[in-house]
Amino acid sequence: MPEFVNGSNPAFAFVGMFQDPTNRWFALYVAISLAIGCMVFYFESRHDPELAEEGLFRYLFPKEIYAHRSALADYRFFLVNKLLFAVAFAALIAVSSSCVEVVSFLINSIARSPELAVPSYVAIFITTLVFALAMDFGLWFAHWLLHKIPILWEFHKVHHSAEVLTPLTAGRVHPLDDALNIVCSAICGGIVLAFCRFLFGSQAQMFGVMQLNILVAIFYFFGFHLRHSHVWLPYKGIWGKLFVSPAHHQLHHSVARRHWDKNLGFVFAIWDWLFGTLYAVDRREAVQIGMNGIEEAEYHSVRALYFLPFVKAWRLIQARWKAIAPSATPHLPPAE
Ligand SMILES: [Zn+2]
Repeated sequence: MPEFVNGSNPAFAFVGMFQDPTNRWFALYVAISLAIGCMVFYFESRHDPELAEEGLFRYLFPKEIYAHRSALADYRFFLVNKLLFAVAFAALIAVSSSCVEVVSFLINSIARSPELAVPSYVAIFITTLVFALAMDFGLWFAHWLLHKIPILWEFHKVHHSAEVLTPLTAGRVHPLDDALNIVCSAICGGIVLAFCRFLFGSQAQMFGVMQLNILVAIFYFFGFHLRHSHVWLPYKGIWGKLFVSPAHHQLHHSVARRHWDKNLGFVFAIWDWLFGTLYAVDRREAVQIGMNGIEEAEYHSVRALYFLPFVKAWRLIQARWKAIAPSATPHLPPAE
């Protein structure tokens, strides 16, 4: 989901992320994920004496993950990226409200609002649900594009080059990747909200918790930050077809070919289910994190995380151009 960051001072915006309930980095969401991690340890260690011996802290923060050079790159990139781009992303959020205004203008210029006479709780329920679905579809679609279009994949590789997952891996995202996600979700959400206003008039409000759409808030409360971690927490059966669990996303980061381009969803797994990209998590699988086991190490510096995608995208364009451009030296007919 787009992150709402207040203020134009980068340092203020950075600190503000952890105090802002509409931001995924809100301290309470991080703390709840930690608490859920403790509960997973409690249940798993009851059947695993070795794990119990290891202890809670070692289970939650294994040195081989948190001191891995991939994780160290995550920490540096998170700090630099959020300081540099938090304000710019806040400005991009304006795309959503602009989209609502433009679509509202277009609809109202061709039709008159029926202002459906439904109880306000029905209007609020429908608006809350469809807005969350629309924004989530925008994120799924952006993620699908990032995986399927080679030039965009070069930028999304930044996220997939992580060789271990820590909560800060969620911030290991190239700014262009982030921008595409924000724009796609904001446009989808904006269009749907404009239609809700057309149908329900001023009753098209959203039910929120701490200024955040309640469905997204619930999702953040259910261990959102464990998706970038080694803590295996699956939603099985029908729940795993409806919602993206931490385990779903860990499989998305797997080097195994059968997991490639699967589980692209953010909140709802229904888009993956509908479009055939769902990989169920009904049984536990050993997951090796990475892309292809070849390129990952190239990305473990802040400079590479920012600039390597441009270099590789340029090489890709050159290779494609050479493949389609006519040869500079015309082929002569063979001598007779
Ligand atoms: Zn991905």
